[in-house]
Amino acid sequence: MTALDRPQPHPRRRAVLTGTLALGAAALLPLAAPGRARAATGPVIADCAAWGARQPSSPVKTLATRPQKIIVHHTADPNSTDYSQAHAFALARSIQAYQMDTEHWIDTGQHFTVSRGAVVMEGRHGSLAALQGGTRQVESAHCTGQNTVAVGIENEGTYTTVEPRSEQYAALVELCAQICRQYGLAAYQIYGHRDFNSTECPGDRLYALLPKLRQDVAARIGGDATPPVWPVLATGNTGERVRTLQLLLNARGAALTADGAYGPATQAAVLAFQNTMHATPDGVAGLQTWNQLAAPARQGDSGVAVEAVQRQLAAHGIATDVDGAFGPGTAASVVRFQTTRSLPADGVVDARTWSRLVA
Ligand SMILES: [Zn+2]
Repeated sequence: MTALDRPQPHPRRRAVLTGTLALGAAALLPLAAPGRARAATGPVIADCAAWGARQPSSPVKTLATRPQKIIVHHTADPNSTDYSQAHAFALARSIQAYQMDTEHWIDTGQHFTVSRGAVVMEGRHGSLAALQGGTRQVESAHCTGQNTVAVGIENEGTYTTVEPRSEQYAALVELCAQICRQYGLAAYQIYGHRDFNSTECPGDRLYALLPKLRQDVAARIGGDATPPVWPVLATGNTGERVRTLQLLLNARGAALTADGAYGPATQAAVLAFQNTMHATPDGVAGLQTWNQLAAPARQGDSGVAVEAVQRQLAAHGIATDVDGAFGPGTAASVVRFQTTRSLPADGVVDARTWSRLVA
């Protein structure tokens, strides 16, 4: 069973064992040695060999697409006061052992891990090479519904009532900045796990730090740090936004009549989608539901999601054929819309453009 539909990819594990396992030779070498990699100008990242990873139980899948976002997690481990590299490497082995032996995943779920001692480590095999290349990503298991489109970062600790250590936070900032640079992401595309799934991860305190994290990353790479804002739609609402919701649900397998009226059938479809995505099942289309639905649409795409784009453009007064085929005409209309909203005019309907279409 793949990990794609697991609700809680990082459940609490037994306490981390420290210092009891033999480390590979690479782990004991200084930072510049083989086994540790510096991705362009970014932070030093200890690869799987450095921390003594086991081989995956079956081949890790590399996708020929860039990720669309970063998702921040906490491991829900105790807030250790052991800030050593040895502890960090033992943590990485413990996570991998749990996820392979108990969850029966093929390898570590997340792409990267940041210890409380600010040691940055590769998670799933291949994540670091993919990051260095900047055009591919490794299929992962850290957030249901997002494992083929989002880089997952686990932060050691539990941040429900306390913040991460400043050293750990600083390492997270540098790692996020490097991921954004390598993949061409903007700082606003940094999210928390709870933005997608029903979970308290990454804890109230780390989640509350995400606006600052986006700002701190934007200070390094430039660009926008404001994430999309979504309308909250529920039973009784009507209009083009509701029709967009219905069409996007149909694009994910629902069979709604796209009539722009949020009735019992739409509520049931939202609930079913939320259950599939392990989002909070409340039948209300808010942050998690839109974040899960708003996949990018671009030239060459076709289908009901493209129809939703075209209907929204027309509703915003931009003449667009509604034919479900994203051709040059639709792209030009998207550029016009983006220009009027002061968005990057690239003709791609990303999450931020989607959010402005349904605002
Ligand atoms: Zn999480």
